[in-house]
Amino acid sequence: MIDPRTLAYDFDEEAEGFGEPPRVERPRLPLDQKLCLGLLGAGLLTLVAQIGGTALSGTWGGMALSWGSIALGTSLWFWRLYAGTTPGIKHDGIWFRSALSRGALGWLAGIFMTGMYVLIYWFPQVLGESADGPPTGLVATVDPLAQLVTGYPASRWFLYGVLYTTAILVFGVRMFMKYRHSRYHQIRTASVMVFQFGFAWLLPNLLVLFQKPYMEFNGIWPLKQNYIWPEKWGEFTGAGAFGLFLLVWAVGLVVATPILTYFFGKRWYCSWVCGCGGLAETLGDPWRQLSDNSTRAWKIERWMIHSVLAAVLAVTVSLWIDYKTTGAVYGSWSGGVRQWYGFYIGAVFSGVVGVGFYPLLGNRVWCRFGCPQAAILGIWQRFYSRFRITTNGDQCMSCGNCSTYCEMGIDVRSYAQKSENIVRASCVGCGVCASVCPRGVLKLENGSTHADRYEGSDRPLDAFVKSLGIRDR
Ligand code: SF4
Ligand code: SF4
Repeated sequence: MIDPRTLAYDFDEEAEGFGEPPRVERPRLPLDQKLCLGLLGAGLLTLVAQIGGTALSGTWGGMALSWGSIALGTSLWFWRLYAGTTPGIKHDGIWFRSALSRGALGWLAGIFMTGMYVLIYWFPQVLGESADGPPTGLVATVDPLAQLVTGYPASRWFLYGVLYTTAILVFGVRMFMKYRHSRYHQIRTASVMVFQFGFAWLLPNLLVLFQKPYMEFNGIWPLKQNYIWPEKWGEFTGAGAFGLFLLVWAVGLVVATPILTYFFGKRWYCSWVCGCGGLAETLGDPWRQLSDNSTRAWKIERWMIHSVLAAVLAVTVSLWIDYKTTGAVYGSWSGGVRQWYGFYIGAVFSGVVGVGFYPLLGNRVWCRFGCPQAAILGIWQRFYSRFRITTNGDQCMSCGNCSTYCEMGIDVRSYAQKSENIVRASCVGCGVCASVCPRGVLKLENGSTHADRYEGSDRPLDAFVKSLGIRDR
């Protein structure tokens, strides 16, 4: 029986509008959270003092007091922030927070991150890198670690590696706490932390220490565009048996890519192994809702990412032709194109825009619009893979959470409403759409075959050819 008071309730949402939720008085910060902030603040102050040239600069004590305090304070802060709350994803009021919804704080964060990339790439002397003397300033703050693991003084690239890896580890703690109700997110977060720390930072630096060719063990051509270019090939083959091992590793990963993607979709790399994906999934997670999920953005994405793939293929082929003909075909042209690719795609697009614009365009700008590795993985995933996200459309209540939090800008809801499998090339299998769905509509699955995902998926070549006519799917 209906309570008559319900019928008498007179509130017209349309007329009143939804507006900003009522502001709740924030409780005072508990002491332990204040201590976390204190540790973070003390670390920042010590860092500034060392950049100014205090005696602590360039010492282990200085490193521990600055970077150690910042990392520890921030990690504890994240741990404490989520520890007292009920497990489950919390996105309340996300569009009303300046830092997370392109407000003034978001712009400031974007300018800061972009600025750091500009300094690292083009103004290393501002950071303290010196060609003919010991490092100073910010670069000197990581010098003891550089001496230990590489045997050389710190450079801007060493500093960059330390910052990048620390960001993944510290924001990984946030991911562990935020998604602690989900085993999938816990395991993939642990995976990107291990791959970044071990495969992309420690082992490559040890290669430098032992005077071997540099290589990131989780990097694959064409993301690491030069790994199968002639000069790198020459470096590998000139480094004895260990160099040959590196060469086999580099080529082996290229060969393994379609096989692994067939069984697991592109998530095995983009959400579990890749350093760019690792940063996007940890540091970038607070901004995932900013990815544009319009059809226009999807069209731009397809053109851009496949153009970059075509560019890297063209550069690679031209370099090899040049190498084999000792410059008879392209002359100096291929070298110029190589530099062009390295600067505009490798530096500006993947770094400055790809990471610097997290707070403005979402956390997967590079992965979605530029990464040629993602393009290859996407083509395999779309046409010849067992991976799919299944949807139980009858349960969908069209809340739109899945589309909002899809970092690749996929309108997941539109597939759920039609009960269609999601087999989009760009899906990195992060699984957040499934985690934020209040009705359990979405499920990430590796089926027993590629052939049952959509009508025509049993003929992948046909489906590929048809897609060149840019069918909507
Ligand atoms: S569709 Fe889901 S799993 Fe795929 S990228 Fe978007 S949120 Fe992640
Ligand atoms: S989150 Fe779930 S219920 Fe909401 S629109 Fe997406 S599939 Fe439907």
